[in-house]
Amino acid sequence: MVIRTFLLVIVAAAACFGQKPAPPEPAFPPHKIIGNVYYVGTLNFASYLITTPQGHIVINSGFAKLVPVIKANIEKLGFKFKDVKFLLTSESHADHISGCDDFMKETGAFLYVMNGDEKVVSQGGEGDFAYDMMWEPCMVKRILKDSDRVLLPNLTMTARHTPGHTPGATTWLLKVTEGGKTYDVVFAASPNVNPTYRLINNDKYPQIADDYRRTFSVLKSLKCDVFLGAHGADHKMQQKYARIGKGANPFIDPEGYKAYVAEREATFLAKLAEQQRQK
Ligand SMILES: [Zn+2]
Repeated sequence: MVIRTFLLVIVAAAACFGQKPAPPEPAFPPHKIIGNVYYVGTLNFASYLITTPQGHIVINSGFAKLVPVIKANIEKLGFKFKDVKFLLTSESHADHISGCDDFMKETGAFLYVMNGDEKVVSQGGEGDFAYDMMWEPCMVKRILKDSDRVLLPNLTMTARHTPGHTPGATTWLLKVTEGGKTYDVVFAASPNVNPTYRLINNDKYPQIADDYRRTFSVLKSLKCDVFLGAHGADHKMQQKYARIGKGANPFIDPEGYKAYVAEREATFLAKLAEQQRQK
């Protein structure tokens, strides 16, 4: 399968990559991951579609300018954008949720956000502990707590609170059946320590380091067969996409998940030690 990318005239500032304007955002072919789970984001900004006959769930609206791309990707897969009932998010950064207003106006979807991120999302970016990015505010229908569930007939998504990257960062869990087997799918929130983050003496987020520690212990406790990142590169999306149809489902990758979490935790601990030395 050939990877085709199209340059879109989308210039967006990526919260996960700092404040500099990003280059035009390349598209990425929407694709099935496993069962009723699909990728509908762009090359750099992950959005996921989980379908049911009674309505769909999308994780991450992306930037407002990406919403039409996500809509087109959902339609290319044969589903209706208006059938999206719930909009969820990995975290309260602009590259994941600042398109919520456009998304909800067009679909009528309900927005559910984890405790800790709900104010930033509903205030359009105001109050973020690290960034100064603003967007159209969105009404949060439900504020989640750890292990809350989002239900559709025959579908249960579980929200795990994995804070640090943002105070309400959320890792979503889903069981999917394919070929008579059941797989644990983990949509992992970013556990990255961004370049400007202060892990100690952070007045705006005093418990940040403890939150990261808790997050890594949660991530390490999860059973994961299919690992999907808050950004496609986290789960090596391009390499896995290129292997679709050439043997076993490339997205079934429990070892890749363990290696990712271990590497991210080591990076966090190294950054924490460095900041403690500089104190
Ligand atoms: Zn982020």
